[in-house]
Amino acid sequence: MAERARQKAGEVDARVAAGEAGSLAGTILAVKDLIVMKGGRVTCGSRILADFVSPYDATVVERLEAQDAVIIAKTNMDEFAMGSSNENSHFGAVRNPHDRQRVPGGSSGGSCAAVAAGMVTAALGSDTGGSIRQPAAFCGVVGLKPTYGRVSRYGLVAFASSFDQIGPIAQTVQDAGDLFRAMAGHDPKDSTSAQLAVPVLDEHSGEKIKGLRIGLPKEYFADGLAADIRTAIDQLVARLAADGAEIVDVSLPHTEYAIAAYYIITTAEASSNLARYDGARYGYRAEQSDSLEEMYVRSRSEGFGEEVKRRIMLGTYVLSAGYYDAYYRKAQQVRTLVRRDFEQAFTVCDCLLTPTTPTTAFKLGEKTADPLNMYLSDVYTVSVNLAGLPAMSVPCGVDSANLPLGVQIIGNAFDETTVLKLGRHIEQSRVER
Ligand code: GLN
Repeated sequence: MAERARQKAGEVDARVAAGEAGSLAGTILAVKDLIVMKGGRVTCGSRILADFVSPYDATVVERLEAQDAVIIAKTNMDEFAMGSSNENSHFGAVRNPHDRQRVPGGSSGGSCAAVAAGMVTAALGSDTGGSIRQPAAFCGVVGLKPTYGRVSRYGLVAFASSFDQIGPIAQTVQDAGDLFRAMAGHDPKDSTSAQLAVPVLDEHSGEKIKGLRIGLPKEYFADGLAADIRTAIDQLVARLAADGAEIVDVSLPHTEYAIAAYYIITTAEASSNLARYDGARYGYRAEQSDSLEEMYVRSRSEGFGEEVKRRIMLGTYVLSAGYYDAYYRKAQQVRTLVRRDFEQAFTVCDCLLTPTTPTTAFKLGEKTADPLNMYLSDVYTVSVNLAGLPAMSVPCGVDSANLPLGVQIIGNAFDETTVLKLGRHIEQSRVER
């Protein structure tokens, strides 16, 4: 986005000189390549959109530029945001800046790697089942997924529309909060965006966490959690208790069904959303087909990668007559149960604290042959999207191999303020100690 960035930077310079700079003047941003910017390519990491140029700007782009942020680049991602390692991109894998033999996480891996490497102040990602928080944890940066409906999805290419949210990835909680507030709020162009006032700064006020009730869901500390991560979170919890927080044990009993429900409902929604890429209206078209049907089949077969095809097939299957009740309807019922688990938990605590991921960054190629194993890396993040809640991953030290790990703070619906406040406290106490 070099040309547009230079032009915007010139405008910002003039506004600074005139004493009229916006709140984000000086902020250099990158944007995940499934958020549209007028005149720029928006590939979604896919061959099918490799040359597609957007005719308009996403609402988040308009709002951030209105506050004088300068967007310098689009970032690589798993194709159509489907993945947990960024190895599913048509343009090649992204590497983790902390260890180039390892994955940065996904699907917002390019955005998180760019922030971790210091290429930009912050970046935008999208989170359908963990795609902001999981790579943020793997790359040692902050990643916030807002409440569903808090940030406009106008100009975000859809994966699973009842899950997708745009959010900030930053080096500090304060930057993430500032970007969040600049983007959030009702947008008449997105009918699912909430008509609620966006909270003003609160987490910056230095307010203490004394009396804050922090819930620890026992299902998130069970088998499969790496010992180093467990130790780091235990130490953090002890510090928070010493700082005056009240630690509460809670249970989210339907957690074990979350991955299955997530991969049924999101693939169903994706199979419908991705029907529009037919070679006729958008992107890649296979040459020399003898019939319309052959043109559709060949364009989609050649344009989509393996993981996207797998999801379209799964999604079509679970929606098909005869299987709909057994899979799709059942998964929707589970979604309700998962949401109720959280509602119950929030009657006794103000927010939840969990690990963001069961392990730190894994090696490139380690999980590509085993999709189910790859899906399990989302075990602590997908429930939040099923329930539509806000959650943030904040760096919480390193493991014995010196790889970053993240702690996840989950808030009640539309209570990003508590999430940011606790995140800020964790960040500050890490710096102080
Ligand atoms: N890794 C999850 C998946 O592959 C989450 C993706 C996302 O949040 N976009 O579906």
